[in-house]
Amino acid sequence: MKIQISRMMDKLYTISQYGKDPSGGWSRYSFSDDDLKVRDIMTSWASNLGMAVRTDPAGNWIARLEGNNNKSPVIALGSHIDTVKNGGMFDGSLGMVAAFEVINVITENNLIHNNPIEIISFAEQDGSGFGASLFGSKAMAGVADDVLLQRKNGMGLSLGEAMKRVGCDPQLYRSAQRSKEEIKCYLELHIEQGTILDDAKVSIGIVDGVAGFEWDKVVLKGKSAHAGTIPMTSRVDAVLAAAEIIVAVEKTAKHMNGQIIATVGRCDIQPNTINIVADEAVVYVDIRSIDDRERKSFFSILSKEIEKICEKEKVMYRLEKIAETPSIILDDSLVHRIEDISEKCGYEYRHIISGAGHDVQSMSLITDAAMIFVPSKGGISHSPKELTDASDIEKGANVLLNTIIGLL
Ligand SMILES: [Zn+2]
Repeated sequence: MKIQISRMMDKLYTISQYGKDPSGGWSRYSFSDDDLKVRDIMTSWASNLGMAVRTDPAGNWIARLEGNNNKSPVIALGSHIDTVKNGGMFDGSLGMVAAFEVINVITENNLIHNNPIEIISFAEQDGSGFGASLFGSKAMAGVADDVLLQRKNGMGLSLGEAMKRVGCDPQLYRSAQRSKEEIKCYLELHIEQGTILDDAKVSIGIVDGVAGFEWDKVVLKGKSAHAGTIPMTSRVDAVLAAAEIIVAVEKTAKHMNGQIIATVGRCDIQPNTINIVADEAVVYVDIRSIDDRERKSFFSILSKEIEKICEKEKVMYRLEKIAETPSIILDDSLVHRIEDISEKCGYEYRHIISGAGHDVQSMSLITDAAMIFVPSKGGISHSPKELTDASDIEKGANVLLNTIIGLL
């Protein structure tokens, strides 16, 4: 069976009418006016398909198509409609319109299904509104933290307050939690956000797992000094140590056979002045791997390097872990089904590890979960330049559709 690409693209363009940012791309934050408008539009699409719509206690938008046996567990599909600041039109929205298209094909062909099917739009996936990334899916998996409710957006409004806009009582968010008895499986179509598929000219990425990650902060204490008067030999330069650490991050990661992706994307310098030897530098390190043990061993090697560098530069230092999420391996049998369907459709595919975080991480804690990627042109995402060819979208959605049909 096949999806109708034009119907799906129409919906994608409709969503893209909301949340446009005058400074470029889309900034459609959770529980903003634009988010609410898109929820309304999705509600009318769902109603036309005979689905009942509700908002769960965590602010997740959910549409449900009843099956012949409504006591049987739900087959869930979904993604998110929130974006990062100045993001693109495919990240998240693509998975939502693909889910609608799957339901469209199922209903117009009167396909018999025992299980109810749900489309879920997870709240605050990208976390750009309130810095509470994956809040909706974490709540559904029962692993969200109360502190997330206190996180505030740029206007000083907390996530807890904002949830009230969709009729949620923030105190009750925990009752959004669901279980394996309730949800049979969860599937999501998403753009890759990397270069692997685009470089290989392959349309389908079968996601085997989502990399775990950690963020570490290295605080380096030097001695502030006049850049013109203190000789090179008697300086305690925090920036110099920072620079050596940044190089060490790259070198150490490259020595680990491609298992580790490590990045320094932020470095704060005090006082950050051209003619002063800095007395403090803070280096932020992002470390990702599908192998949590490998990530930990990378960190311990890097820690020794940092110690050596700081000793040599006579800089005091402190290491702080500011975030950590373990890796997730997705459901083997769903992965095989997706592979089978891709082969039957005659599409080229590649197994892939996601380096970016997704709601599927939370959902895999409570049910069998899987994810299908389609290429991002040039690997660009979280940017107005985000682009995926309609022909790739069509293939990805066909794989999603036929995987779901196989589960009915
Ligand atoms: Zn996304």
